[in-house]
Amino acid sequence: MHGVTRAAEAGQLRATEQRRAALRSIQEGPVDVLVIGGGVVGAGVARDAAMRGLRVGLVEQHDFAFGTSSRSSRLLHGGLRYLAQGRVGLVREASVEKKVIHHIAPHLAEPLPFIFPTYRGNRDWVLWQLKIGVKLYDLFCGGRNLGKSTWLRRSEVLQRVPDLGAAGLKGAVRYYDGFTNDARLTLDTLRSAAKGGATVLNYCRFKDASRPGDWVCELEDRLAQSIFRVRARAVVNATGPWAEGLPHSRVKLRLTKGVHLVVERGRVPVTETVVMTQGERILFAIPWGERTLLGTTDTDYRGPLDDVRADATDVSYVLQVTNQFFPTVKLVEADVISLWAGLRPLVADAGGKPSDISRAHEIHNPEPGWWDVAGGKLTTYRLMGEQTVDHIVQGFIGLQFLQGLHGEIGRCRTAEEPLLAAAETSGVSGILPPEFSRAVVEHYVAREWAVHVDDVMVRRTSWHYYLRDAAARAQQVAVWMAELLSWTEAQRAAEIARYSQIGSCPATQKPECSADAKQRHDRPHAPVV
Ligand SMILES: Cc1cc2nc3c(=O)[nH]c(=O)nc-3n(C[C@H](O)[C@H](O)[C@H](O)COP(=O)(O)OP(=O)(O)OC[C@H]3O[C@@H](n4cnc5c(N)ncnc54)[C@H](O)[C@@H]3O)c2cc1C
Repeated sequence: MHGVTRAAEAGQLRATEQRRAALRSIQEGPVDVLVIGGGVVGAGVARDAAMRGLRVGLVEQHDFAFGTSSRSSRLLHGGLRYLAQGRVGLVREASVEKKVIHHIAPHLAEPLPFIFPTYRGNRDWVLWQLKIGVKLYDLFCGGRNLGKSTWLRRSEVLQRVPDLGAAGLKGAVRYYDGFTNDARLTLDTLRSAAKGGATVLNYCRFKDASRPGDWVCELEDRLAQSIFRVRARAVVNATGPWAEGLPHSRVKLRLTKGVHLVVERGRVPVTETVVMTQGERILFAIPWGERTLLGTTDTDYRGPLDDVRADATDVSYVLQVTNQFFPTVKLVEADVISLWAGLRPLVADAGGKPSDISRAHEIHNPEPGWWDVAGGKLTTYRLMGEQTVDHIVQGFIGLQFLQGLHGEIGRCRTAEEPLLAAAETSGVSGILPPEFSRAVVEHYVAREWAVHVDDVMVRRTSWHYYLRDAAARAQQVAVWMAELLSWTEAQRAAEIARYSQIGSCPATQKPECSADAKQRHDRPHAPVV
């Protein structure tokens, strides 16, 4: 008992002192770079800049990875679909980057085989074209992909995926991409940035900035509910879907929503990812431990950015496509354990279908010292960071030259150096959720800036999406966090209330889920294949 109390006190002291120190540090003198946005892109910029020896601050209005960077398909991919659209440069760039992430974060980049079946009469996806496509795909990875692509005869496809619809099946190609954990990639990149000297603050919102010389940025500490100012030589707007609305931003976005469903793996039994097509669009059934991820949708979005939810049409679309490709599984809404909805921050293109808009990124410098970085993909986040910091450094070098200064700015090392040592990620960061324990929660509070129950349940661990009894586990996490952070009973209750408000709550508790969900979820589990 004493041990627990001492550990709790240590955890609380560490977390509180860390935040105080971060607030002090970011206000001491100008930072070289202030990054706005703690998604994967902002994290990549902060890590790169810190590793080059620049003084870096990063602020995130909610929790780190709150936005799109915890709501993706979790794939590290060149994008076979983009190859079909002729976007060769984009595919080549992302293909190289997926290998780079495999090198710098092997715990978050698992080689994942994809089976892409083709059917008679489907003119959008023709087997012989796909066979050429996957070979090119391997070549773009610098000669060697995460695994070698092959093709499968009809019988071989059905052997590997017995539940796949057989009528009209011609065969398949089998190729490799990477499977990651988007929120963990963001958090581990931030941990790496912090090790490199960056000061990172969650629950800290950028409000406005003015520029008499350096930028003077007005920030709001949302935990203390106080306003303070930070001076910065360069500011990077890395706010993903929010980028257009930031003062000084010149970004123009077209936001599209994508929804993913999580079901028991026994309900959609796949051991390798299966590609499901709808015209030119593709959806995936991805094996994730004892679960299968199904998604995604791609529809224009104009709703609130802070509360993106799946609606009934999104869910029924994904279920309908899955049932079409796996005719015997007969999925219904009640099979959905959890779901998430995210926004693609695509660089604007008013016309055309959402799925046709380029996933390329853009970096702009609309005012001296202000950088907008927009678009792109999870897979290319490191490259986006490198290119953004290259631009900033070029600006600094010019200025130093004019002022006769000769400070050393290092070269980019983010593609070579691992994010973290294996000992720093073991048991706390991976593609699958960690074991449910007090020890890991202590770690997230003391070392990964977790301050709310949902920080732990959703982004640090994915327990929220993975566990059937997530609501009960959240109660336990709240008890542990109350001890670690000295919450009152009222604060603990408020945390539970806050957690239950999250859209995409597990089916057994979420209000938007159908009434028979609980009954269905209480039945015996189907075996995992
Ligand atoms: C459905 C879907 C599936 C996807 N699948 C894949 C995939 O499989 N592979 C892949 O490579 N890519 C994928 N992507 C794309 C990828 O997820 C995104 O490109 C990437 O996560 C965007 O990261 P970001 O940092 O730009 O934005 P975000 O993660 O949204 O981060 C921006 C952050 O800025 C913060 N912010 C906003 N305003 C302020 C402010 N005023 N002050 C402080 N902070 C602020 C926000 O709270 C937010 O956390 C997918 C996207 C979607 C939607």
